[in-house]
Amino acid sequence: MTPARVRYAPSPTGDPHVGNIRTAVWTWLYARHTGGKFLVRLEDTDQSRAVPGSLERILASLRWLGLDWDEGPDIGGPYGPYVQSERLPMYQAAAARLIEQGNAYPCFCSSEELDALRTRQQAEKRPTGYEGKCRTIPAATARSRVNAGEPHVIRFATPRDGSTTVVDLLRGDVTVENRTLDDFVILKSDGFPTYHLAHPVDDTAMEITHVTRGDEWLPSAPRHALLFDALGYPRPTYVHTPIILAPGGGKLSKRHGAKFVLEYAEEGYLPDALLNFLCITGWGHGDDTVFTRERLIELFDLADLSLNPATFDMDKLNWLNGVYLREMPERDLAELLARRLEHDLPADAVRPLDRAFVEAITPLVRERIQVLGDVTALADFFFVDQIPTPTREEFLQKRFKDDAAGAAAAIEGVATALEAVSPWETPAIESALRGLAESTGVKVGDLFTLVRLAVTGKRVSPPLFESIELLGETKAVDALRRAASMLRG
Ligand code: GLU
Repeated sequence: MTPARVRYAPSPTGDPHVGNIRTAVWTWLYARHTGGKFLVRLEDTDQSRAVPGSLERILASLRWLGLDWDEGPDIGGPYGPYVQSERLPMYQAAAARLIEQGNAYPCFCSSEELDALRTRQQAEKRPTGYEGKCRTIPAATARSRVNAGEPHVIRFATPRDGSTTVVDLLRGDVTVENRTLDDFVILKSDGFPTYHLAHPVDDTAMEITHVTRGDEWLPSAPRHALLFDALGYPRPTYVHTPIILAPGGGKLSKRHGAKFVLEYAEEGYLPDALLNFLCITGWGHGDDTVFTRERLIELFDLADLSLNPATFDMDKLNWLNGVYLREMPERDLAELLARRLEHDLPADAVRPLDRAFVEAITPLVRERIQVLGDVTALADFFFVDQIPTPTREEFLQKRFKDDAAGAAAAIEGVATALEAVSPWETPAIESALRGLAESTGVKVGDLFTLVRLAVTGKRVSPPLFESIELLGETKAVDALRRAASMLRG
């Protein structure tokens, strides 16, 4: 297997979206699979679209997902700099060479002129695009206008005849007629390159073997191929990755659960679960769904990507996250839960939380949560001074619908029974409560619902008897007595 040199080349336009980061996942896996290098390059040539802080968020997203890079803006490397705005002389040299060879030319057309051209083309229902007005300016004239400081861009002199074929690893040959490509801009008037020029220059200089990028770039690929050829560069292998569709088709958005990586981190997803999920959204191996990071590195190959756009399946992500949570060593999970609770609980909860206590509740909650953030709603009552008492209406249902006094008496009975429990352990607590149900003739289900509401403040909670044990006698009895007196009052 030849070690690949592959890159993730985000533009600093904010947090990377799900499709973009999935391409990074696949690219990283391929680097690791082949024992090659994964590098990060910041594509900041469109300064008008730059969002401050993007690079930090992008790198933090990669770091959290466990996608480590061998070369990049922050760590440098033998092919640096890894920020395009620091590489301008290289693009300018390439453009100068193309002019020299007759493959490019300065264009002095103003934006008003170009707008008028477009309006005319649209009115005449012709394809829009530059028609080559400045291509015919004699080279010497063009050079003296440039030297005189006249504003200009550099355009590629696209061949008018013939066709260009790009090979895409997933699609095979993609051919376009050259006459459908206009003389596109390669260097802007501010001296910055367009993506069309920066991509061949950088991916060649950085010895990139595989260009993995979203398939919105596929239509531009023939332009890039022409530039590679004109510059005498060997072309890389292209892998244009399909988009991710929303459930039911259409464009994926926040509404479908698609978030930024750091938002998933914030909500308590596990990096391995998200990595697994992103990888299998558009790639597969047999019927398996759960793949460890190591197994993905072993199995993953760019050639196996599916060309059919995958659908974003939030339920699958949640399910996978639950799987990873349950498979985690208990101590590790307890630590994550403790940090999560420390983040979420009201200000008056004592911090740091007692790790031994959190470890004790971990087995009670681990089957009942899908994301770490679920723990708070389920287990917050363990950490408050006074468990909040639900409303009368919550208690007075079914058997106790019109019987507040009966409910209060039943709850008081439980409090008294608990005061007599010894040792204070789950089996003794359970048998005391079951015994009480039997002796008073209240159905177990009805009684336990009252108790659960009183001692956890919730209708759905971790297992009841274990919870009572961990709460301790004082807190449990206090919560029961307060509930009873509320019902009487
Ligand atoms: N900066 C481009 C983007 O973010 C990169 C495309 C590529 O990977 O070449 O879409």
